Amino acid sequence: MNTDCLFCKIIAGKLPSEQVYSDEKVVVFKDINPKAPIHLLIVPRTHIISLNELDDDDLTVHMMQLLPKLAKDQGLNGGFRTVINTGPAGGQIVFHFHIHLLGGGNLGGAGFAM
Ligand code: 5GP
Ligand code: ZN
Repeated sequence: MNTDCLFCKIIAGKLPSEQVYSDEKVVVFKDINPKAPIHLLIVPRTHIISLNELDDDDLTVHMMQLLPKLAKDQGLNGGFRTVINTGPAGGQIVFHFHIHLLGGGNLGGAGFAM
C-alpha cells in the first residue's frame, strides 16, 4: 500500500467507495464522477502507477477477462466502453493503475471522449 495514494486508501477501506466487486487481485467500485449511467473503476490491489508499470501477466489477463463479466452483471448487454488513461498527457489523474468501464445509454461512435 502507498499511504499517499487515493485508491490504495479506498482498497484498504480507509476511504469510502461504492464497491460492486472484489477478489484477491482487484477491487471494483463506482466512479465518484460518472461519465455514463454505469461507470466503474477496476483497480488492482497492488499499487501499480500506470499501464507503463504493469508487468504482471496473470493480473492483466484477469482484469481483461473480468471486464465482460462485470458488464454483464451491470446489464450492459448491448456493449460497453473501456478506457485506460496513462500518464499526465493521457489524462491520468489518479496514479494507481485502473481501467474505466462505461456503459448504459448510447456512447456513440469513434469514442475518444469519456
Ligand atoms: P483517471 O483520469 O486517473 O483515469 O481517472 C480517475 C477517476 O477516478 C476519475 O474518473 C475520477 O472521477 C475518479 N475518482 C477520483 N477520486 C475518486 C474517489 O475518491 N472515489 C471514487 N470512487 N472515484 C474517484
Ligand atoms: Zn495505490
